[in-house]
Amino acid sequence: MSRFLSEKFKTLETYVPGEQPAEGEYIKLNTNESPYPPAPGVISAIKDDELKRLRLYPNPDGVRLLDKLAAFYSVGRENVIIGNGSDELLAFAFLAFCDSGRGVVFPDITYGFYPVYAKLFGLPYQQIPLNENLAVDPVDYCCILNNIIIANPNAPTGTVISLSDIESIVRGNRDHVVLIDEAYVGFGADSAIPLTRNHENLLVIHTYSKSRSMAGARLAYTIGPAPLIDDLNKMKYSFNPYNVNRLTQRMGEAAIDDEGYYAEKRSEIVATREYTAMKLRDMGFIMTDSMANFIFTKPPGIRGFDMYAALKEKGILVRQWNKPRISDYLRITIGTKEQMDALIDAVAKILDGR
Ligand code: PMP
Repeated sequence: MSRFLSEKFKTLETYVPGEQPAEGEYIKLNTNESPYPPAPGVISAIKDDELKRLRLYPNPDGVRLLDKLAAFYSVGRENVIIGNGSDELLAFAFLAFCDSGRGVVFPDITYGFYPVYAKLFGLPYQQIPLNENLAVDPVDYCCILNNIIIANPNAPTGTVISLSDIESIVRGNRDHVVLIDEAYVGFGADSAIPLTRNHENLLVIHTYSKSRSMAGARLAYTIGPAPLIDDLNKMKYSFNPYNVNRLTQRMGEAAIDDEGYYAEKRSEIVATREYTAMKLRDMGFIMTDSMANFIFTKPPGIRGFDMYAALKEKGILVRQWNKPRISDYLRITIGTKEQMDALIDAVAKILDGR
């Protein structure tokens, strides 16, 4: 830290991303990326012409992509905004809807960026403990009279609340914004996007990073009522109007055209998740009921960190947090069947060698 850093940031705790080692160094099951490449149409979307056009700024709204997304979700262009990953769209939402007198509420165990943004922007926030199943209890959020962010499925626990629960939360907090972060939707949970047509205070964020295999392209979108999207655009146009580059916009359009490919890959990931969960349960692991592309699981008779370290030693990277309630759990991204077999084999050897 330099002596020039603003006083207000001296105690800032930054977000700590999962390790990103050199390619091929590890079986990488630590940051919930897809094990499959983007759809063929995405890969062929970038032609020489498009590369030559890099001299030009992109369309700041990404209108072609907006129209594709709007048609795909049966909403209007005015109901969609694109961003440089959901992290950026989350930042716009914190900026747009919170201030020193109006904070935000989210679970105690959830996506680690929420408290980071609240602190960065100097916003009050409250964390509500997950229940004993490490799941959100919707009752805790009804009539809370504050802005709310819920990841559904939750991260890192993978647990889900129903659309009717989301609707009750939205109805119970009519004067505040409810934001549902659906980064992991598509692996078994239902999307709340259809509900955004009937509620003036509901926003839903989706990312291309997980189910559309494009984490490296940095692309996400928020869907909701036009006035809320307008507010988010106010932030975007005051911060970085060209937030999504030309190549990513093109690839994002192509991905929508190849939905069949992604549907197939999502079902493969779900099948591999259930297979992995069954094998680990047989070895005595306990786990949450994950509807995401990862499992959240506690190995038998070994500390979470020790299992994480032993797996790393064997060339397999998973995620573990030294945090209250979850330090003995591992979050394991679902890779290919072969990768999960390697994990199961490594885990069995580690448990045998105790
Ligand atoms: N929300 C949740 C719940 C996440 O786990 C992540 C991924 N780390 C994000 C948002 C950010 O995703 P993106 O790659 O779109 O910024």
